[in-house]
Amino acid sequence: MPNSDKKRKTIGIIGAGAMGVAAALEISEQFPDLFDVVIYETHCDILQGSSGGTPGRMGLGYHYADLETALKYLEYTIGFIKRFPKSIRNDDLEGRYFITRDSLVDPGYLLKIYSQISESYNEIAKKDPDIMKAFGGSQMSHKF
Ligand SMILES: Cc1cc2nc3c(=O)[nH]c(=O)nc-3n(C[C@H](O)[C@H](O)[C@H](O)COP(=O)(O)OP(=O)(O)OC[C@H]3O[C@@H](n4cnc5c(N)ncnc54)[C@H](O)[C@@H]3O)c2cc1C
Repeated sequence: MPNSDKKRKTIGIIGAGAMGVAAALEISEQFPDLFDVVIYETHCDILQGSSGGTPGRMGLGYHYADLETALKYLEYTIGFIKRFPKSIRNDDLEGRYFITRDSLVDPGYLLKIYSQISESYNEIAKKDPDIMKAFGGSQMSHKF
C-alpha cells in the first residue's frame, strides 16, 4: 500500500525475479526511512519466472573464454554469496566437466584463461574463509 508519510516515497519494481527481489531488499535495507518498496508481479509468488526455473548454478567464470567477462562473473558470484550466504549448497561439490566439440577456441588459450581465473579465485579465497567454505580451495573446484 502506498504510504501516507509525505517525506517517504514509494518505489515500484516490476517483476519478482532475482533482480527485482534483490533490488527491493537492497533499497529497503539501505534506505529504510526514505522509501517503501512495492513489487508488481504477474505470478502469485516471487521467483516464479526464469529465476525459479533454473538450476541456479553459481559459476566462477569458467564457462567464459573471455577473461574480462569471466572475472566479472567471478566477482558477481562472490558478491552474491557474501550478500546471501544461505543461498548456496555445497554438499555435492565435486567440480564440473566441460566437454566441447569443434570449438572455435583453442584449448591452450582456454587453459590459460582457466589458470588466470584460478589465480584470481585463489587470491580471493585465501583472504576470505566464507568463500573458501562455499566453493572450496582451488584443488576442490578447479581441476585441469
Ligand atoms: C534455462 C535457463 C537456465 C539458467 N541457468 C542459470 C544458472 O544456472 N545460473 C545462473 O546464474 N543463471 C542462470 N540462468 C539465467 C538466470 O536465470 C537469469 O539471468 C535470472 O533469473 C534473471 O532474473 P530476472 O529477475 O532478471 O528475471 P526473471 O526471473 O525472469 O523475473 C522477471 C519477473 O518479472 C515478471 N514480469 C514480467 N513482466 C511483468 C509485468 N509486465 N508485470 C509484472 N511482472 C512481470 C515475470 O513474471 C518474472 O517473475 C538461466 C536461465 C535460463 C532460462
